[in-house]
Amino acid sequence: MVYKNEQLNEVKVFKDPVHRYVRVKDRVVWDLIATPEFQRLRRIKQLGTTYLTFHGAEHSRFNHSLGVYEIVRRMVNKIENNPNWNKEERLLALCAALLHDLGHGPFSHSFEKVFQLDHESYTRKIILGDTAVNKVLRKVGDDFPKAVAAVIEKTYKDKLVISLISSQMDADRMDYLQRDAYYTGVSYGHFDMERILRVMRPVEDQVVIKSTGMHAVEDYIMSRYQMYWQVYFHPVTRSADVILTKIFHRAKYLYLNGYRFNLKPVQLISFFKGNVCLKDYLKLDEASVYSYFQQWQEEEDVILRDLCERFMNRRLFKYIEFSPEEHIEKRAQLEHLFRKAGIDPAYYLVSDSSSDLPYDVYRKGKEERVPIYLQMPDKKLKELSEHSTIVDAITGKTRTDDKLYFPKDFIDQLEDTHLKQAIWSLLYENGCTHES
Ligand code: ZN
Repeated sequence: MVYKNEQLNEVKVFKDPVHRYVRVKDRVVWDLIATPEFQRLRRIKQLGTTYLTFHGAEHSRFNHSLGVYEIVRRMVNKIENNPNWNKEERLLALCAALLHDLGHGPFSHSFEKVFQLDHESYTRKIILGDTAVNKVLRKVGDDFPKAVAAVIEKTYKDKLVISLISSQMDADRMDYLQRDAYYTGVSYGHFDMERILRVMRPVEDQVVIKSTGMHAVEDYIMSRYQMYWQVYFHPVTRSADVILTKIFHRAKYLYLNGYRFNLKPVQLISFFKGNVCLKDYLKLDEASVYSYFQQWQEEEDVILRDLCERFMNRRLFKYIEFSPEEHIEKRAQLEHLFRKAGIDPAYYLVSDSSSDLPYDVYRKGKEERVPIYLQMPDKKLKELSEHSTIVDAITGKTRTDDKLYFPKDFIDQLEDTHLKQAIWSLLYENGCTHES
């Protein structure tokens, strides 16, 4: 039998707390899971530093990737006989689902920001480069790795395949919302996925929802909205991210300025220099990053040492509401006072902003978003927000949250009471609410 059609003798089953079971019958999928590049995802947490806020959130990108694969497998089973679905694309959809997050590095968000990397380009490099994943995919066909990369990058010719994996209602989001809700233990984030899968229909090149299933979709959109504000943008998690980012900044700065580390950051040097190759990238996981942080708590550099101690022992920064545009003057004053107090504002006074657009319809000139369509009883398609009052209320509305982070303990310890008072009154004067 040709490799692409090869089936395992028996279905392999992964026990999964969200979907109960993840089932694998295709040899190709099984072989991809066994590659070192895919196994590496076990050592990268799905939610980065969120575990410092919700202690259960230690699940990995490996869990999530298997979950997305399982949802796409179920979707494909459901639409298998639909005339709009090309049966030849089944394996392609499964592989793209499984590998869509392959390029994520340790603590993706902060790491990418400091070292100007992006996980999407690494996903592509791993799929097309000299890797075990590429070898497996090439056994299916010479052009198969390119097709998988194209689906993930949303450039593949058949838009229906893309829409299963990335759209405003795709397997990726459906998995992470439920999975992250499960592991954080929050009560939002749940919706009736079984119902959504039952009411989805491929129409031409997109998946639409039978109008009777609209409430399940509303629930999904609202749970996405809730998860962003209650979990993903949680201010305490962002405090941990701020510290993490500053550790990378400081280590990079020290390295480039000839500082002699007690423990030379061998694995990070190419990141500091900006000449990372795929091999270096794949070697780095969260365990190696933690091991540096652990050691750097004993470095001579006071800033690096302090930031690592904070991160490892969860001594996070406090925050206030603070819009950088509205408070340019105040920010400058604070920086001045911080410097006077011997606290470097470049590392200890940090603005952070989060924003989300829960659902949007297509608008010219904006980031293109394919809307969700309902199929009405007369078979006509209607855009979701035209029919749903709840979704209409949040359509196209971006919400932003600005915070200013700082080490409260440093300010508390200042001996100069005038200076301390001046900093406190700037931080907590009218409009700025004190939170911990
Ligand atoms: Zn994903």
